Amino acid sequence: MFRRDTPAEAEFRKEVRSWLEANLPAMLRGRTVRPPPAELMPWYRTLSRKGWIAPHWPTQYGGMGATLNEQIVMTEELARIGAPALPAQGLNHIGPILMEFGTAAQKAQHLPPILAGTVIWAQGYSEPGAGSDLASLMSRATLQGDHFVVRGHKIWTTWAHHSDWMYALMRTDPQAQPRHAGISFLLIDLHSPGVKVRPINTIAGDEEFSEVFLDDVVVPAENLVGKLNDGWRIANALLGHERLATANPQFPLMTLDRIKAIARATGVIDDPAFQDRLAAASINVTTLSALFSHAVELTNNAHSLGPEASIIKLFSSELLQALNDLLVEAAGGHALADKPVATGFGDVDVAASFFQSRRVTIYGGSSEIQRNVLARRVLNLPN
Ligand SMILES: Cc1cc2nc3c(=O)[nH]c(=O)nc-3n(C[C@H](O)[C@H](O)[C@H](O)COP(=O)(O)OP(=O)(O)OC[C@H]3O[C@@H](n4cnc5c(N)ncnc54)[C@H](O)[C@@H]3O)c2cc1C
Repeated sequence: MFRRDTPAEAEFRKEVRSWLEANLPAMLRGRTVRPPPAELMPWYRTLSRKGWIAPHWPTQYGGMGATLNEQIVMTEELARIGAPALPAQGLNHIGPILMEFGTAAQKAQHLPPILAGTVIWAQGYSEPGAGSDLASLMSRATLQGDHFVVRGHKIWTTWAHHSDWMYALMRTDPQAQPRHAGISFLLIDLHSPGVKVRPINTIAGDEEFSEVFLDDVVVPAENLVGKLNDGWRIANALLGHERLATANPQFPLMTLDRIKAIARATGVIDDPAFQDRLAAASINVTTLSALFSHAVELTNNAHSLGPEASIIKLFSSELLQALNDLLVEAAGGHALADKPVATGFGDVDVAASFFQSRRVTIYGGSSEIQRNVLARRVLNLPN
């Protein structure tokens, strides 16, 4: 790795490793697609009871207040044991946003259930006609006295069919110019009358996301985060957290372990050309870990990453795809098997892992959009 543990960190690593070995159920280890809530949320709540569910949250909000290096140790140990992906929208996205922009009442209402794992959140940004061009979104929220009436259609909403709440961008001033000046950030209870959720199947065979239809849904005015028509600023701050969270090296580290395990099982590991590519991939995963920890350190000091978050989103997502290409190569003739391949590291579902990696250069803003952000807002290149 790019760093060595101090004696105290080595001790912490030992504690995390033995606790995970003793507490993470075997059936949740090394899963390729995210397990459904009935299987996953008990594990979330076990981590929560241990006080380890939110290493990056400050202790004042019930988080672990872990140092940067402790967070890295946890990431590496979760990867080592093959821990499953947890729902991230509460812990990594809306939680930190409410800490920065929410009212005292919003924090008191929403942060404790996120930590406890008693509510699940979804993100309602994209619409059928507004993905990369998010500012063209059409879903409307009309303020009527003490509440908004919300009407619209969201799509690609991760885990909405399992979620209790959705933070969403809504058009509150259709005349505003530029268009993003007429958008507000609302918290919507998905159990409200008028909400309909329809799951969408993905190429990897999981129901990872949904469409959300909002038909005159009543949302209390106090569920507005920040000021009316100032949602774009909050949305961008949240995208910084999202792009950083999607760059967590836990999954590239796990994929690297899977590549090695399957290459040993198939014998591809003995091919010198494959060894070269494996070495290059390992160096890139180490680079990502270093980039990620630098970005976490910046975030700890400045709250939200700016447009620089695009660098790490781009690097990590394209790396995860390259690793999955290598996984297919390592599996050789087994890559197309419709069932997992047995290895010393457990069963590896090569096809599902490969298909799943296709999505990472789309969500959180596609690679093309990250390159546009970097060109315009970081490098100040002309349009
Ligand atoms: C697995 C997954 C989970 C998701 N979860 C959520 C979620 O929870 N909540 C949510 O709100 N959304 C979610 N999304 C949606 C995601 O944010 C959008 O798919 C993404 O922003 C792209 O928008 P689009 O699909 O409308 O594609 P489009 O914007 O129509 O883009 C189509 C293609 O054109 C390219 N393109 C578009 N504009 C430009 C440009 N200006 N310059 C160069 N190329 C361009 C894009 O890169 C892309 O390749 C998820 C998507 C996926 C795949």
